[in-house]
Amino acid sequence: MSRDAPVRPAPVEAGGAYNRSSRVQAAGLLPAVDLFEAAAKDVELPHEPQSIVVADYGASAGHNSLLPIGVAIATLRKRAEPGRPICVVHTDVAENDYTTLFHTLATDPHSYLRDDHAVFPSAVGRSFYQQILPSNTVTLGWSSWSAQWLSRVPAPIPDHVQVAYSRDEAARAAYARQAADDWIAFLTARSRELVPGGHLVVLTMALDDDDFGYTPLLEGIAAELADMIREGVVSDAEVQRMALPTVARSEADLTAPFAPKGRFAGLSVEHLEMFVADDEIWRRFATDKDAKGFATRWTAFARASVFPTLATALDDGPQRAGQFFQRLESGVSARLADAPEPIKIPLAKMALVKQSWPR
Ligand code: SAH
Repeated sequence: MSRDAPVRPAPVEAGGAYNRSSRVQAAGLLPAVDLFEAAAKDVELPHEPQSIVVADYGASAGHNSLLPIGVAIATLRKRAEPGRPICVVHTDVAENDYTTLFHTLATDPHSYLRDDHAVFPSAVGRSFYQQILPSNTVTLGWSSWSAQWLSRVPAPIPDHVQVAYSRDEAARAAYARQAADDWIAFLTARSRELVPGGHLVVLTMALDDDDFGYTPLLEGIAAELADMIREGVVSDAEVQRMALPTVARSEADLTAPFAPKGRFAGLSVEHLEMFVADDEIWRRFATDKDAKGFATRWTAFARASVFPTLATALDDGPQRAGQFFQRLESGVSARLADAPEPIKIPLAKMALVKQSWPR
């Protein structure tokens, strides 16, 4: 993709929906927080008066950023001069719910602002597939559950909403190409923004061998959409247009830009681990046997993360979105409650470092 190409926004429901319904993401990102803490311990601090800058790429409404950014700040505080200013830049697309983000920073009991008066948060509303901060300014970068969103829908998916479940070779190839181009664009831009010696930690959706995971959820969505067509709630043409521009990457996909010398645009991979996150919702069900609770929690994850994107395919989208959300949510939830089973959550966590100035 040309870096000037228009970027398709990843829509969100306003009013803090993501903050309330992103327990799966909050739990899934935990294993990457250790990497971010280690990065905050190791990174070279800029000399005053240069600021320490922590960037958060794909922040959504902010709730899930509080822990990783808070851990980084606590670690940096132990190393920096007392009262040293730390700038935190939360970035997302222009349409993001920044009102909830700043409200969360101001009021959440776990906000990193609570007892630190030398932290200065701000936001950038531009796609991270281009450079969005000045060159050589970012000390630490964090990005969780965001780099799996492609910059655009590269092709229709005729037989599913998620390309990993499609048998259409042309769609699969178009998504694979876009995923490779976008990963390169993401890394290139971050490399420019990081200070020499700066660290970046990325947590993103990944393949477990070849498995995308989330099977009962995605099959539930596909089956419910088929029912909704039969009942005339949505048209065939609308469902044909529904495509989630998200990809899970393999270890080979993530490391491809770094071949053969282990370096790309001045960045090198310090750590890469493919893992399957614990399905906390299933674990709770195993104890309480509450099938409805299991189904409600997993459907809330789907609603917050992918329903808004599906709704963009509706004619008269804004008017019909509410009804569409409710019907899809109750239908998918009923299907999951009928036959609860564990849901696989494959992820990758990665720590990258930008080459230091030569000494
Ligand atoms: N980091 C949070 C939120 C992840 S939700 C967490 O771990 O839970 C994914 C976010 O990525 C959404 O808010 C979405 O708008 C954002 N996103 C998707 N594509 C983007 C792009 N091209 N540029 C910036 N943000 C993007």
